Amino acid sequence: MAASATPGGAAARIVIENCAIATVDANDTEYASGYVVVAGNTIESIGAGKAPEGLENVVRRVDGTGHLATPGLVNTHHHFYQWITRGLATDHNLFNWLVALYPTWARIDEEMVRAAAQGSLGMMARGGVTTAMDHHYVYPQGSGDLSGAIIGAAREMGVRFTLARGSMDRSEKDGGLPPDFAVETLEGALAATEETVKKHHDASFGAMTQVAVAPCSPFSVSTELMKQGAELARRLGVRLHTHGSETVEEEKFCHELFGLGPTDYFASTGWLGEDVWMAHCVHMNDSDIEAFARTGTGVAHCPSSNARLAAGIARVPDMLAAGVPVGLGVDGTASNEAGELHTELRNALLINRLGAHKEAALNARQALRLGTYGGAQVLGRASQIGSLEAGKLADLVLWKIDGIGHSSIADPVTAIVFGAAAPVTLSLVNGEPVVENGRLLHVDEDAIARVTRDEAQRLARIAAGS
Ligand SMILES: [Zn+2]
Repeated sequence: MAASATPGGAAARIVIENCAIATVDANDTEYASGYVVVAGNTIESIGAGKAPEGLENVVRRVDGTGHLATPGLVNTHHHFYQWITRGLATDHNLFNWLVALYPTWARIDEEMVRAAAQGSLGMMARGGVTTAMDHHYVYPQGSGDLSGAIIGAAREMGVRFTLARGSMDRSEKDGGLPPDFAVETLEGALAATEETVKKHHDASFGAMTQVAVAPCSPFSVSTELMKQGAELARRLGVRLHTHGSETVEEEKFCHELFGLGPTDYFASTGWLGEDVWMAHCVHMNDSDIEAFARTGTGVAHCPSSNARLAAGIARVPDMLAAGVPVGLGVDGTASNEAGELHTELRNALLINRLGAHKEAALNARQALRLGTYGGAQVLGRASQIGSLEAGKLADLVLWKIDGIGHSSIADPVTAIVFGAAAPVTLSLVNGEPVVENGRLLHVDEDAIARVTRDEAQRLARIAAGS
């Protein structure tokens, strides 16, 4: 990218100094006052005290006094299109909420999806997310190039991105929940997913765009699509994502339809493995957790959405103790209107303390790890992002902690996890600034606010007339 090199071709350097640093490396190394040197798109060096002297090609020096530097936040589960159906069906459980919203969701088109992606991405990026993901599974016939619109919005924003190309082929007539016109055929879904991977997936170290194969959920997808989706992902060398074990109703549905609980059903369709991550995993017994740990299957924990839909409390402390990779997810904003990841750090910590492990469930550093390194693990990118270490990609956030919201809290990590969302003074993705002083640099936030309102109103009109 342009700013990564000086006119002479050498890697340009950005030097950040005088800030507290939480690296989230394997030892949880922290510095009360330290530096980070970014060269091109990677972290060149990091440590205590001042940056080394005599560095060449320094294009920018940042005085981080009053700030905490952390790895950029990594979101591992979302549905961008729901940005334009927020605040609806607010007092429903999951199945009733889905039934209420599917008829509206089935009317989305490319312009609506583009606007919703901008809103979703913008809200996350300005709150410190540097790697976003979108599990998009509603592809109504004739609705345009929805995957292209979503990927384009992420590129424009400047964030690292995984599109989980979703699909549904089990509609009402087959005992599923989505309306018939909102689903694809088995063959159509597989072909379109393969095309999306071939067109957009980048397997390189510094990839800004990756694609995963992501049938929606057991209750909206045929067993054949689950099986063939897993085979497709492994043939193409990409990851697998879906919803799993979200509610008691889903568990009942799986027992009635397949004679198996959700985790056993996933095992029977090839859906446990270190290339798989699953959203929610609320209703897991000990042997389910053991199966995830044994196979390296990852979890996207979405505490706000689980609370909003009264799904329950995922057993995150037990998963971590067993060795399951766990990241955090905003989930779609029709079930988490806030749409930013700081809420999930805080709610992961607070909500898990309402479970069996009480105050020992999670601490602030574990919550920060879930939102950074844990997310990188479940996206299969832990060697590239998720911690601040020399050689890794330069995705980092400088949180302002000397303002009214945080200055009276002595410990910086406690301040940003237990406290209110801290202002983002600077966010770098791939060594490039994406947020400065709380504002997005590459897009017009006010224009996004207008267009998302207009598209939400247009969708509501179309849905009311159908
Ligand atoms: Zn979801």
